[in-house]
Amino acid sequence: MEISHIEHIGIAVSNLSEAIIFYEKKLGLKCYNIEEVKDQKVKTAFFMVGQTKIELLESTEEDGPIGKFIEKKGQGIHHIAFAVKGIENILPELENNGIHLIDKSPRKGAEGLDIAFIHPKSTHGVLIEICEEKKK
Ligand code: ZN
Repeated sequence: MEISHIEHIGIAVSNLSEAIIFYEKKLGLKCYNIEEVKDQKVKTAFFMVGQTKIELLESTEEDGPIGKFIEKKGQGIHHIAFAVKGIENILPELENNGIHLIDKSPRKGAEGLDIAFIHPKSTHGVLIEICEEKKK
């Protein structure tokens, strides 16, 4: 697999609007997109830092993945997303190499990306997302 750059860093927050105020007013970043991903029970806010984005994630339901994460570990870095090419070929390759995947095939994430998660069990403790922007 070839990773071109860090596409984004996902950060779990308990209050999205308060977190946006911090990133905008204190860090001077500009939120350019707010989007709900129903599938993952999250509301997301995006900031551009160079070619990498910061993705803030607020749970829309207590039993969603982000809600559970915050309950267990508190707010903080949730995942790192690497930009790749040919995600649908990479996933079976990883699986054949004994890597534990959360998503065996890509699904739609925020910002129209094709995304898949690799289980932290196989990555020395980090939830890794691989993602690809599909040109229409
Ligand atoms: Zn992500």
